Amino acid sequence: MEAVVEATDLEKTYGETVALSRASLSVARGEVFALIGPNGAGKTTLVRALTGTTEPDSGSARILGASPAAVNRDRLGVLPQEFSPPGRLSARELLAYYAGLYDDARDPDDVLADVGLVDAGDTWYEDLSGGQQRRACVGSALVNDPDLLFLDEPTTGIDPAGRRTVWRLIEDLADAGTTVVLTTHDMAEAERLADRVGLLADGSLVAQGTPADLVRDHGGSSRLTIETEADPDAFADLEHPVDRPEHGRGRTPDNAVVVRDIDPASIGSVVDYLETHDIAYTELSWAEPDLEDVYLALADATERERTDRLESESGAADLAQAGETA
Ligand code: ADP
Repeated sequence: MEAVVEATDLEKTYGETVALSRASLSVARGEVFALIGPNGAGKTTLVRALTGTTEPDSGSARILGASPAAVNRDRLGVLPQEFSPPGRLSARELLAYYAGLYDDARDPDDVLADVGLVDAGDTWYEDLSGGQQRRACVGSALVNDPDLLFLDEPTTGIDPAGRRTVWRLIEDLADAGTTVVLTTHDMAEAERLADRVGLLADGSLVAQGTPADLVRDHGGSSRLTIETEADPDAFADLEHPVDRPEHGRGRTPDNAVVVRDIDPASIGSVVDYLETHDIAYTELSWAEPDLEDVYLALADATERERTDRLESESGAADLAQAGETA
């Protein structure tokens, strides 16, 4: 089956900044693909390169069988990250305005219902809550009933109930055959919605796969977190590996040690150990690895590589300078 989105080796630099570095991905019809990654990783640049609003320096991109700049706009829906419609239009007028840009558009009231804004249809955009505004914006990307939908952070700023409305909407669209590419900082959102996830770090797609595959390959092991002042050495006789991650690193609270590779059935033996060794603790929590662990592991690794590279480059520059002055 032909991919609906196909990008090969996209590169984009802004001055010294590498926004995209050999980014390649392929998304099939009806698939939901989530792009995750730290701020500045290149997610928006990738979305813009795929929707024809920025020209990559090299590489190729095709969507719906055409180049992004030449694609039939009737088949494409795009919600940019920064999108501020006129404040003095009601939610309904806003959707009617965008519907008016297409020959064959949906009824704005149906779209209002899709995004859960029926009761706010007559409210000026500027008087909607932040979450309602974002849902109205999502609606504006749906008026032409697109085959391919790009949503750059669709649920940022939306409360949990509104977020669920948008999630169900995206699921229904995908069930009906719409292909969706979204970016998000919400790992629960990616895990719930995405058939496949791509993790961008430093302009590169460093991992792609189903959430389950990514968790299996990069998520690490299950872990028991013990909030305690005790030193990891106090656990030397426990038959599981124990470490104390840097304070507050990832999701580990301050003053905690982490027991790795441990199934729930063994938690009792750890509790016994704490008691027999007189180790004071305030809380125990067990967790399976999830997408957030994948994110933390891979984004951290890329950040460390980048710091090392910058340090070795500046070290080399220092040496060169020292050579010049010597
Ligand atoms: P993300 O969406 O993952 O936060 P972006 O794609 O917005 O990342 O940005 C990637 C990198 O490119 C960042 O370092 C950003 O500052 C830079 N960048 C993006 N757009 C521009 C631009 N128009 N001009 C200069 N730098 C840009």
